[in-house]
Formats: sequence, structure tokens, C-alpha cells
Amino acid sequence: MAEIPKVYDPKNIEDKWYKFWEEKGFFQPNIDPHKKAYTIVIPPPNVTGTLHMGHALNNVLQDILIRWKRMKGIPVLWLPGTDHAGIATQNVVEQRLARQGLKRQDLGREKFIEQVWQWKKEYGNTIVTQLKKLGCSCDWSRESFTLDDKLSRAVQDVFIRLYKKGLIYRGSFIVNWCPRCQTALSDEEAQYQDIPGNLYYIKYPFKDNPRQGITVATTRPETMLGDTAVAVNPADNRYSHLVGKKLILPIINRTLEIIADKAIDSEFGTGAVKVTPCHDPNDYALAVTHHLKGIVVMNPDGTMNSQAGNYQGMDRLECREALLIDLKERGLLEKVDVHQHSVGHCYRCHTMIEPYFSEQWFVKMKPLAKPAIKVVKQGKVKFYPGRWTKVYLDWMNNIRDWCISRQIWWGHRIPAWFCQDCYRKYLSKHLAKEIELPLEISDKQAGIVVSASRPEKCPNCGSKDLKQDGDVLDTWFSSWLWPFSTLGWPEDTDDLKYFYPTSVLVTAYEIIFFWVARMIVAGLEFTGSIPFRDVYIHGIVRDETGTKMSKSLGNVIDPLDIIKVFGTDALRFSIILITATGQDVYLSEGKFNVGRNFANKIWNASRFILMNIELPSHQTLDSELLIKKNLSLADRWILSRLTKTIKTVDDYLEGYKLNEAANAIYEFFWHQFCDWYIELVKPLITAKDPPGATGQSKEVARAVLCSVLETSMRLLHPFMPFITEEIWQRFSHQDSSIMITSWPESKPKLLDEKVEGDMDVIVGEITALRNIRSTWNISPRQTFDVKISVPGSKYEKLLSENLEYIKNLCRLGKITIGKALKKPQGVTTAVVGNIENYVLLEGIIDIAKEKKRLSKQIEELSFHLARGQKRLKNKSFTAKAPQEIIDRARKREAELKEKIGILKYHLEELK
Ligand SMILES: [Zn+2]
Ligand SMILES: [Zn+2]
Repeated sequence: MAEIPKVYDPKNIEDKWYKFWEEKGFFQPNIDPHKKAYTIVIPPPNVTGTLHMGHALNNVLQDILIRWKRMKGIPVLWLPGTDHAGIATQNVVEQRLARQGLKRQDLGREKFIEQVWQWKKEYGNTIVTQLKKLGCSCDWSRESFTLDDKLSRAVQDVFIRLYKKGLIYRGSFIVNWCPRCQTALSDEEAQYQDIPGNLYYIKYPFKDNPRQGITVATTRPETMLGDTAVAVNPADNRYSHLVGKKLILPIINRTLEIIADKAIDSEFGTGAVKVTPCHDPNDYALAVTHHLKGIVVMNPDGTMNSQAGNYQGMDRLECREALLIDLKERGLLEKVDVHQHSVGHCYRCHTMIEPYFSEQWFVKMKPLAKPAIKVVKQGKVKFYPGRWTKVYLDWMNNIRDWCISRQIWWGHRIPAWFCQDCYRKYLSKHLAKEIELPLEISDKQAGIVVSASRPEKCPNCGSKDLKQDGDVLDTWFSSWLWPFSTLGWPEDTDDLKYFYPTSVLVTAYEIIFFWVARMIVAGLEFTGSIPFRDVYIHGIVRDETGTKMSKSLGNVIDPLDIIKVFGTDALRFSIILITATGQDVYLSEGKFNVGRNFANKIWNASRFILMNIELPSHQTLDSELLIKKNLSLADRWILSRLTKTIKTVDDYLEGYKLNEAANAIYEFFWHQFCDWYIELVKPLITAKDPPGATGQSKEVARAVLCSVLETSMRLLHPFMPFITEEIWQRFSHQDSSIMITSWPESKPKLLDEKVEGDMDVIVGEITALRNIRSTWNISPRQTFDVKISVPGSKYEKLLSENLEYIKNLCRLGKITIGKALKKPQGVTTAVVGNIENYVLLEGIIDIAKEKKRLSKQIEELSFHLARGQKRLKNKSFTAKAPQEIIDRARKREAELKEKIGILKYHLEELK
């Protein structure tokens, strides 16, 4: 028998086994046309990413499901890959250039993109290496990247298909605009946070009576330069008589009309609001309804343009300050209130978002959403936990068109070509001083051609001066195709036929809209099939106080640090154990002790078993030896518990309750196998002498120990892949690895409720007698005698047959068992159900000393009790103190009473 190191050291084994698995090709599926595949596509981490706890949780969940199904003999594919992450990656490379004093424009588009690819080659693999550290059993031979040629072809194909169906259009809109990144952001990419700001009250004079006017309130005064109306609610008595009256826009001196619209909130500010169609989404909608024109006053970088008069060239906030001074001088700034308001920020660079007028490409989502709503309503796609179904449906029912163009360089180019002649003419005609809203771009008039390759000439004017759209597509426009583009779509590949639709998508709730919903839409539209049957939504990782982990807050726990200190298995097990389905995870470093302690427990128990058994025995639960021969109560009990645990774990995994599954194994292995079974058979296993009075044979006990340990390792393997492989390899086996051996089967014939009930009695007896030892401070070396009074012969037989267990584990001397024995004098009693255990204390402990100790304790506790009771009787206390304090005092009173009662009972026993 090979020596087993005394202390478990994860470092020595984890890399070794990962390398072994990878080299043996175990991560690749064994395609069997007669079996249905189980497929998961990884939520592709950003290529810029480094592993954080959110990834760790997400990927460990997936790896558990994958390893579990693989052991069940199902052909499994876990398809990995990364996302090109448009803005994020471009930012990283731009920052790198900035350190050399360069901007991307200095390099030009082509050179810049080359740099990004270079960066990807150097650093893009970081997260993949880290996923391997985590033990992820992905099929790396199928690794994909959203900008791979085949995935890019799928993206282009989809754009053209939707365009031809009239589901992609170019239009004007108010988009969330990040002036720093200079790109449009989707609604979901705009992160709203409450920030303190001001509400400025500005007076707009009447045209016919400039001394008087209407006061409007705004948080963004600089946008007033683009105002084209003032609006009030028609039901607002303060203003209804003024509707139709003309105003003079201060500074700019444009004439505005007062309009009425029911959408105006009379409660906000003064009840009169300025209307700035090109800089506010609500105002844009108002302008469309009331046929107002729009004026753009800002450049894409957030500086003011020529429409801003004297403020041209200033930054938006600089302009705000200058404008406020000018208004004040004219006596038009009435007041400034402090105002907490919710402002969108760029999810990448946290710059304040500017609602901005621009032309973009859009996907019409309403018609596409319909089938995606239906499949979820019909239960063809199921959410776990189910409460996310409603969230999904609500969002889908109110879905808005999706702005898919981004003004950056890194990403999929849009297959649209602009005739330089027609487009310029079209824009100058439509973006003149005041814009008709909405600006509907007619692709034909504007000379826009959507095509996979450059068109020969403009179909409109015949010009050959055509340029491809400079924008790229939103990153999610490739991610929404991920479940099938990675399998070869649009080609009808073998992989697509065999592995699609996928089985489950495992993801955090943050990206249900960004990603999950859109994948269902795309799957149905392009493959005619749902992309996955189940969606398992997990929570996000927070710190101990419930705050989201972020680098800027400094509350991040790095999974790789945890792996260094605790080991990968400990990280995996701990994080799963505390992740209740769908709930957020509150993490601190201390929580990884659970996993580490468990790993140590597994190691020590395995070491004990393997060192004490010469044979590297591999007994399966089917073994004749185990079913028929000579099994003791403890043997049958642990086998019954094991088979129950297997069933429980399977059921929990089926229902995506991975934490419950982990907990079931933990409870079984630690508190039943280690705490009880191993302890019960230890004397037998280690003894040189033949079996004792329990009738248990050494041979059988060894077989049971081996079998339970080996089975437990398989049951635990998906959760703790490394330590289980290390231990499992020490058994004789046919398969070359635990990860491809079979999953334990629950064997109903091993279930035995009677045995479990009997064992409860024995465990109860041992616990009660051990309590006597601790209550009376009996030294561990001291044996004592016990008289056991049982209610009937059933118990007499049970206890007699299993006396050796009780004797060994409690270090007892003489044991007498009898039916309804008379309670002797001077004994302490422990009651277990209907059984009474009498222990004569005389001669074991110093009775006089114990009496003194007990009396003193009673005295002390009584003093505290009296003081507490006095306080509770005090009316001024009960009237004034908070309910919480009173409740606590009452609880304490009850506890003290109970403790005193027990002590008095024990004192009585000594008399
Ligand atoms: Zn930004
Ligand atoms: Zn043209």
C-alpha cells in the first residue's frame, strides 16, 4: 500500500489531474447517435476579463452539471469561448496607447484593429487559463470567439436576413450617448444612480409682455438652447389660459409656443416644462406628437455646437455654468433647489450619459418577441427559479426597438454601404437648422445599400464613391447567436444537428435582458428552435455586508487568491454550499474554511481507511458480500443512508438545487459516515483480535468502508473534482479516471427504514451517555457502569446485540439491561425515548465537590434571574424600553429558569 501524505495539499494534485484529464481527451464528448446529448454553452466571458467570483460561481455551477451528466454516461458538451466585448476591449487598448501619448485616430482604423488583435493574442487567454485552474471540464477543442471568421459570417448573415425582412432599419432617435466613449448605449448599458444635483428655475418671458413670463424647472439648463416649445398639462388651472401664447427663449431669442399635453406632470417643478426634442427622449416623443421641430446643440463629444451661439466649443458642464451666470445677470434665474435625481452613467467608463439625437441602426423587436413570449408561456423554455418567468414576460411584452450600431472600431462591421454623394445631400437636407421629427431615413434616397460585399455603384445616382458604414454592431448582436453560431450555424453541421438545442443556460440575473431574452428570440427566428430548454438563473456575488464586489470599493475577493490558500476544491464546495438557488451570495474569506475543513476531513478519513486496509479493495454496492453476508446494524445503516443520499443528490441536481445537493453529501459524509460509522467500526478495524460481540466481521466492515468511501468520492466528484480523483485512484478500478467512471446508482434494496430506526436508538444512547460524562466532568480515562431500563424485549434485544458499540464509544464498564428496572438510589438519569439510563455517580466523581459546584451555580443564576425579574416588574422600564429589549429580557428570564431547573434536578440526583 502506497504511503498517503498526512496533510492534504491541494497544490500537489490539482494541476496534475487537470493536465491528465485534458491529455486523455476526457473533456471532448463521445458522440453516440443513439444517445441524446447534454449541451451547455458557456456565457462567454469578456476577452478582457480576469476571473472574478461571479465567474467562479457561474462556471462551477456549470461544471457540476456537466460532470454529473458525463458520469451518467450521457455525451456531454460544454462549449467554451470568449466575447470580443466591443467597448471594453477598445478601452483597454486605447488606454495602452494613451500611455504612449497616442490616440486611436493617430493610428487609423486598420492599424488600431491590428493592435487590438495583438493585444488579444497576448492577454486574451488569461481568463481561459483561469477557468482551467477552476477545474472547468470544457471542450477546449471547440473553443470559440465572437469575432472568429465563422461567427462573424453568422452575424453578417443575420443582419442581412433581418434587413431583407424589414426588421432592421436606420432611423433617428434619442439614444443614450456616452460622450467619452462616443458611442450609443442600450437602455441596459445605462446604469442609473441617484446623485445630488440642482433644479434650476428659469423664467421665459412672454413675447408680447417681456416683463412677465412662465418659469420652467430643469436639471440640465444647457439643453435649453435647443428648446422648441414649453409644455403644460391641459388640466393645470395655473396655465390652461396661456396655451398657444408665445414666449421668447432667453439668450437665443427664439420664439416658442406654449403647448398642452396630458403627459406633463403638474407636480414637477413649476408644472411648466421646456421641450428639447433632440436632447430628451420624452421631449422627442412630445415633438413627434405635436409636430415640433428639433435642434441639436451638442457635438458627439459633449461640447456645444454652432447652434449654441456664444457657448459654442464649451463642454456641456462649462456651458451650464456660463449660461447660469448670464441668466442671473438678466434676472431670469429665479431660484436653484437642491434636487436628488437619477442619472444614467456609462456602464464602461461611468461618464454621465447624454440623451442624444443621432441616426442609428435598429432592430424591430416587437414582431420578433412574439414567438419568444409564446415558448416561455408554453413552458418549452423553463426558468429556474420560476419567478424569473414573470420578469422575462413583462420585459418582452414591453420590449422596445434595439439600437444595434456602436460608434467604435472593435467589432463586427455593419454590411451597409453609403453613397457619399446621396448620403451627404440627404443629411444636409434633413439636418438643417431645424429638424423635422421623426427623421425617417429612406435608404433609397440616402443611397444606403445593405450587402455582404461592396456594391459596384449607387443604385440611386450611379456614383462609385461608396463607403462602408464606419460603425460596428453592438457586442450583443453576436452574443445573441452564441448557442448556434458556435456550433457552425448557418451551416447545417454535424455539431449543430447533434448538440442543438442546448440543454441549459446557466447565468446571473443581470443579463436576462441583455442576453437570455435575445438568445431565445434569435434561436426561434434563425434556427426555428428554442436555443435551450432550461434557464438556470443564479444570484450575484456580494461581500459580507451585501455590497456588490467592485475593484473601486476594494471589497473584491480574488478567486485565484482563494485557490492559492484554500485550494480549488475548497473554493468550489464552499461557494456552492452557500449559494441558495437564485439568491445573491454573501461572501467573505472566512466562508472558504468550510470547504477546506471538509477537504481535510475527507483526506483524513480516506487516509485512515486506506492505511488500515491492505487490499486496495473496490467493492460495489452490488457485491454479494454486501447484500447478503453477515451485515451488522451499522453496516446496513450506513448503506441505507448512502443509497438515500444518492437519491437525494440526484433529485436536487435535477431541480437545480445544487447547494442542497452539496449539503446532502456533506451531511452524509461528515456527520454519518465519519462521525458515526467510522467511529463505530474503528475498534474492529484496528483490533488484532477477532470480531467482537456485535457479530460484525472485520472483513465485512472493511468492505463496507471501502465501498462507501469509493461511492462517496464519485458522488462528490462534480463538486470537488481534484481530491476525489486523488483518492479514487487509490482503489482498483477499470476506468482510468473518476470523471469518466459511472455515477453512483441508488439501490432501493439497500434501503432499510427499520435499520435506520434502530440505529437512531443506538446513536441516541451513545449521545446520552456521552452527555453524562460531560455534565459530570468525568475524566475521559475513567470508565463507569450503567443500568439500562428498557420498556420491552424489542429494545432489550436491540441493545444487547449492539452493546459493543455503546461500550466502545462511551468507555463503559459494566452494562446491565433489563425490562422496567427500578431506579437505584444516588444515580443520574439520561432518558432516550422510553429508555432510561442510570449511572451511579458514587465512586466516579467527588460528590461533595459536585454538590458545592452545583449549589454555587444555582445561586449565581438565581441572582441574575431575580435582577431580571425585578426589571421586568418595573412599569417605567416596560413602558419605555423598545419591544426588542423587553422581548430579549423575557427570553433571558425563560432561559435562566430552565437552566436553574436542570441544575436543581442534578443536585437532587446527588442526594
Ligand atoms: Zn463611456
Ligand atoms: Zn448615390
